[in-house]
Amino acid sequence: MQLLDGKALAGTIRNEICAEVAQIISNGQRPPKLVAVLVGNDGPSQTYVGAKEKDCSEVGFDSEVLRFSEEVSEAELMDTVERLNGDPQVDGFIVQLPLPSHMNDQRILEAIRPDKDVDGFHPENVGKMALGLEGFVPATPAGIVELLKRHAIDTEGKLCVVIGRSSIVGMPMALLMGKNAQPGNCTVVQTHSRTKDLKGICAQADILIAALGRPCFVGEEMVKDGAVVIDVGISRIEDTSRKSGFRLVGDVDFEAVANKCSYITPVPGGVGPMTRTALLQNTLQAYYRHQEK
Ligand code: NAP
Repeated sequence: MQLLDGKALAGTIRNEICAEVAQIISNGQRPPKLVAVLVGNDGPSQTYVGAKEKDCSEVGFDSEVLRFSEEVSEAELMDTVERLNGDPQVDGFIVQLPLPSHMNDQRILEAIRPDKDVDGFHPENVGKMALGLEGFVPATPAGIVELLKRHAIDTEGKLCVVIGRSSIVGMPMALLMGKNAQPGNCTVVQTHSRTKDLKGICAQADILIAALGRPCFVGEEMVKDGAVVIDVGISRIEDTSRKSGFRLVGDVDFEAVANKCSYITPVPGGVGPMTRTALLQNTLQAYYRHQEK
């Protein structure tokens, strides 16, 4: 079994981005800029946005966090989106989800200019991804594809089972694995909460991608010998032996499954760091596209 060390690979890719930014600056140009819009005091959202800010500063990007109270109106947020759309110094921006219940997430996401939508959630980018055209791919599936690619994992003709069909992970993941590309060219089975005989289907997978958000759901009986297992899930479970009182686990029962796999991602340190790095890669891509115009 080989561990797919997302943390180490993310470090390598960040060094590559750093070198590119140094080159950009030595050419007398401004660095790429990412803006995050954060509404309210949701704990996890604050953590994610803080991490994005830190990541930007580590690779030499400019970044800014625009914070709004929970009570901000949708109209005011729309004005901010419009301002960011028109700001030539901003290459990409994200609106951290979830938004408060008085707002329509989809309306806000659709107001973001597609060439600045580095989260890849705008319908234009989703459509481009489905058609195999150049656009932005959501960070988690993009990071997983990069992880497979950099480990030269052969996916051609393999049976890939994706558990989950969310618009940010499962759905784009299935599209990318079925694409005529390397990584890609898999025969893809997309499963979800209504799937019958999920265990039997998973047990046939050459590549199993678990993105359902159920701690340690994938057990030994669901994994074929020699399978590649990608664990997207992140859940906190109580652990009184830790100072924090909890630990992070994935959707895969790592201890039970690891020895059966050819490759497996750990949690933490697998898909998470690759997701963060993919957002930086998308921002760099947005920067270059804006420079070309
Ligand atoms: P989500 O929006 O809640 O979607 C979960 C999907 O799993 C749904 O399609 C659901 O099916 C399916 N599902 C739930 N229970 C199932 C079951 N018992 N059997 C089969 N399918 C089941 O979650 P998400 O945003 O995709 O995230 C999934 C997990 O990945 C979460 O733990 C999240 O924290 C984690 N995550 C990690 C990263 C990272 O960077 N590592 C990034 C994003 C998300 P239905 O559609 O039928 O309801």
